[in-house]
This record gives sequence, structure tokens and C-alpha cells, in this order.
Amino acid sequence: MPTQIKALGTTAADKPLAQMHILRRDLQPDDVQLQILYCGICHSDLHHMKNDYGAGNYPMVPGHEIVGRVTAVGSDVTKFRVGELAAVGCIVNSCGACPACARDLQQFCSGKGGTTFSFNSPDRHIGGTTYGGFAQTYVCKESYTLRMPANLDPAAAAPLLCAGITVHSPLKHWRAGPGKSVAVIGVGGLGHLAIRIAKAMGARVVALTTSPEKVADAARLGADDAVLASDAEKMRELQSTMDIVIDTVSAQHDLDSYLGLLNIDGIVVLVGLPPQPLFIKPFSVVQGRRSLAGSNIGGIAETQDMLDFCARHGIVADIERIGASQINSAFERLDRNDVRYRFVVDMSTLV
Ligand code: NAP
Ligand code: ZN
Repeated sequence: MPTQIKALGTTAADKPLAQMHILRRDLQPDDVQLQILYCGICHSDLHHMKNDYGAGNYPMVPGHEIVGRVTAVGSDVTKFRVGELAAVGCIVNSCGACPACARDLQQFCSGKGGTTFSFNSPDRHIGGTTYGGFAQTYVCKESYTLRMPANLDPAAAAPLLCAGITVHSPLKHWRAGPGKSVAVIGVGGLGHLAIRIAKAMGARVVALTTSPEKVADAARLGADDAVLASDAEKMRELQSTMDIVIDTVSAQHDLDSYLGLLNIDGIVVLVGLPPQPLFIKPFSVVQGRRSLAGSNIGGIAETQDMLDFCARHGIVADIERIGASQINSAFERLDRNDVRYRFVVDMSTLV
């Protein structure tokens, strides 16, 4: 019999989160059960709750930056022990056999059932949809559960499970490192971690922001330079100087001005997911043989690599830790770009 637990969910796109009861499956032999300690609030939670992409299933319990304590393990589990910290990110299952899964790119699974995300996906075990981390517990297959490095603060590390991997994956794929210049567009949850991770990889990092007060803060985060995107003169100086641009902007914006930052053969990688189409002038890529690409979270193995990389470099998020009762005001503040730089919910306050 599945177990009933408390969660924070919404019943429609225009409704706030409210306490509700959901079911978690019985522990299977290859499952790990977590008592959720912390769950970060990602802008993707907000997009999905508002049904920005038209793919919302309700009731919906968002939350996919989950750190918890192992409270039970199935009989076949070998990697986790009761009492340890562990984490669950965006992906909780996939076919395991398609070409994408064979390459550890479970986020692009093309096999039967596709990628199962930690919330708002068809649930392969008990039907209905998966429910995310704004809840008391999570049950996840061992092979999709992440080991938490002991030296990272578990609350501040929670955002690594989505924001961290989403920026680490393209930075690694497109080889950010010594001798490379990386621009980070948008200093939000993803952006502030992109600055730290690109810097730790050895790249020169420039932050571009629409928020004047973040210009100085970007230096504290480790950026070598920070520019207000509305400062035409500074933007002109940056033209044709960047190798990699990581675009984390969550709303519609002018891509041409960011493509113009690229040096020959440079690449703009979209990770932000504005619901509206984005347009470019063909000359923005034809000139300089520039590329426009995208990247979606990261596979399980590279998520573990990213956690271990962040542990080696002492990288965590700057967080505002909140209680369950503050979750709706936190989402409102995220919606108006008023967070430095990630809200993390202390799930022990859900009683
Ligand atoms: P966030 O904390 O709200 O950060 C987004 C940042 O974008 C803001 O802090 C702001 O930075 C900038 N921004 C917002 N509106 C803007 C506008 N109209 N024009 C220019 N800049 C604007 O959100 P997040 O959690 O980092 O997520 C960012 C985006 O990535 C969301 O769309 C989210 O859904 C998406 N995402 C994608 C993946 C993936 O796998 N591809 C994974 C996670 C999230 P400044 O104040 O510095 O300008
Ligand atoms: Zn996310």
C-alpha cells in the first residue's frame, strides 16, 4: 500500500500552493526512501505551476532540488545506508536502454516512457503523475539517487541539483576553462552558480545583468567583470570578445545583442526557458560563424560529477532559507526577480 504523506501542491495554474496529501510508492528492492530536509525553488517550478508550457498536470507538487536523509533502503540497494544524506534532482527514471541512456544522457531518453522527471511526469509505479520535493518524503530508484558530499552545507547545496547541473553541463561540454571567456546572462539562481562554476573551471567570467544592484555583487560571486545590459557603451566594448555565453534569462529578451558578444566560432547556449519564441537576425550568427545552442539539465552521472566538482571547489548557492508557510510569498518574489539568489525551503517545517 502506498504511503500517504503531506506535500505543498497546487490544483490549478492560477492557484497558490497549499498543503495536501499525496501518495508515495512502497519501497521497491532497488529504491531509496528519503526524509526531505531541503528543497530549492527553481524558476522551472514557477513556469510549470503557471502552466507556461501547457504541459501542467494538476494537482501538481513541484520541487526538484531535493536533499534528504535516507530513512529506508530496499533489499538490493548497495550504495546508500540509512542515516546518510542523499539527493534527488530532476530525473528519477528513464528507459535505461536507448542510445541517450546508453550515453548517460537520461534527460534525452527516447525509449519507452521517456524521461521521468521528479514531478509532473507520468508515474511508472503507481500511476498518475510524479510529485516533487515540496513534501515530507521521496522514494527514488538507487540508480537515480545522488550521493551528497559531506563538506557541503545541505541547504545551500540543494540548488546544485538543478541550477548547478544545468550550467555545469554546457560549461563542461563546450570546454570552459583557462584561456576561455564566458559571459553569464542573468544573475539569478542558475546565473550566480554559472559564475562560480565557470570561474572554478578556470575561465574568465563576465556577468551581464538587468539589475543595477547586482553589478557589484557579481564581483563578490567571482565574476571578473560585470556589466549592466542597458549600458550601451560597455556592451559595445564587449562585442566579439566571448567564447561561450550561458543565457539563463527566464523571460523574452533580445538574443541578437548577446550573439554579438561572441568571438569567431563562439557559442550562445540557451538554458533559460522563456515560454515565448525567441528570434534572431541571421547576420547575428552568419557573421563570425557563431552558434546558437541549447542544453537541458544533465544526466545522472554528470550530476554526480558536478556535485563532486562543487565539493572540491566549495561551491554552493547563496540562499534565502524559508519555512513551508513562506513558500507562496517566495514564489511571488521569484516572479518579480527579488531573490538573492535561491530560495530553499526547510521541509521539516511542513507539519
Ligand atoms: P531566476 O532565478 O529567476 O533567474 C533568471 C534571471 O534572468 C533573473 O535573475 C534576471 O537576472 C534575468 N531576467 C529575468 N527577466 C529578465 C528579462 N525580462 N530580461 C532580461 N533578463 C531577465 O531563474 P532560474 O531559476 O535561474 O531559471 C532561469 C531560467 O532557466 C528559467 O526559465 C528556468 O525555467 C530555466 N531552467 C532551465 C533548465 C534547463 O535544463 N535548461 C533548468 C533549470 C531552469 P538579472 O536580474 O541579473 O538580469
Ligand atoms: Zn530547475
